Amino acid sequence: MLLDSAVSSASVDTRAVHAGRDDLTDLGVHAPPLDLSSTNPLPDIDSGGESYEAMATGRHPTEGGAVYARLWNPTVARFERAIAELEGTDEAVAFASGMAALSAAVTAAANRGAGRHVVAVRPLYGGTDHLLASGMLGVETTFCSPDEVASSLRPDTCLVVMETPANPTLDLVDIAAVVAAAGERPVLVDNTFATPVLQNPAAHGAAVVLHSATKYLGGHGDVVGGVVAVNADWATAIRPVRAITGGILHPLAAYLLHRGLPTLPLRVRAQQASAAELAVRLADHPAVRRVYYPTAEGGDPRGLLGRQLRGPGAMLSVDLLGGFAAAQKLTTGRHWFTHAVSLGGVDSLIQHPASLTHRPVAPDARPGAGIVRLSVGLEGVDDLWSDLEDGLR
Ligand code: PLP
Repeated sequence: MLLDSAVSSASVDTRAVHAGRDDLTDLGVHAPPLDLSSTNPLPDIDSGGESYEAMATGRHPTEGGAVYARLWNPTVARFERAIAELEGTDEAVAFASGMAALSAAVTAAANRGAGRHVVAVRPLYGGTDHLLASGMLGVETTFCSPDEVASSLRPDTCLVVMETPANPTLDLVDIAAVVAAAGERPVLVDNTFATPVLQNPAAHGAAVVLHSATKYLGGHGDVVGGVVAVNADWATAIRPVRAITGGILHPLAAYLLHRGLPTLPLRVRAQQASAAELAVRLADHPAVRRVYYPTAEGGDPRGLLGRQLRGPGAMLSVDLLGGFAAAQKLTTGRHWFTHAVSLGGVDSLIQHPASLTHRPVAPDARPGAGIVRLSVGLEGVDDLWSDLEDGLR
């Protein structure tokens, strides 16, 4: 077993390969086992009951074991340990989707905080915006810009929600500045676009780091999942919500997500290199009004690249001079870019946020009709460019 200092000083590449695998040698296996049990034999009534009680109140199982798979699963727990290690937090709690993770975090915040008011910094993923605007979880939300966080707080504010880089216009928001403006209130940062390879929000003061694991963490377009990386106190508050509402990640999904983590740094860097190249070429194209990408013109007004974000990532958006008609032409009929929502996989995707991912967002906050979002994959960059050039012609 490596000393803790060796783990904490190891590069993200090393940690991505080894994280969450610390029990394998003792188990006598090399690859993480997949445990699909929905229920678990109990040693006796007392210890089974004790373990049940521990998990229902947010703690880890005791001698009585995992009891029931809605409460705990060892394959899921391994993936959680890996994410906590990559994000630099005490623990992580994994869910059946990113939205289930967000719902549980908001519910936990409302149950433990000063009240049921949330401040949300726009832009956000359309589903997040929709959930908060709907009031469905019994919270009231004030939407604001990054500079309006302090003035949007109320005595009953229990959580501040933000995303950076934000979906779909890659807005970079200063996490430390939002944390400072939020004061005592916890800040949740959606880190889906950056991944732990490029950004660790907890190091800048975020209390809850959220991922749609469906995206880069999975990376192969075959898993839906979500995870929050948090300190032990938050984990204890969030786990009972998961246990009671039943949002735990399926073990097979956890197995696949964990299997994808060793290649996460390689994938993110290779996809990022192509995205950066495409951003440069697109900025020079006469059909393009603006490229939204951290290294593009106007993409990093607060100087966060290098300070908060270690690289621009592999997501980019373009605003087309031809508006919706041009967006329609670009998104359909591509050869290598699949016209589909979601992002972060090894294959490139293209979509029109105003019509799809951001459709439920209030019209005044919805992305423009000429904006098209690209998730750049691992294909050859020249092949991707000729595909885009065809659609822009
Ligand atoms: N956060 C971001 C930035 C997303 O793009 C998405 C989904 O597209 C989500 C959260 C929600 O995740 P899921 O679809 O896994 O529920």
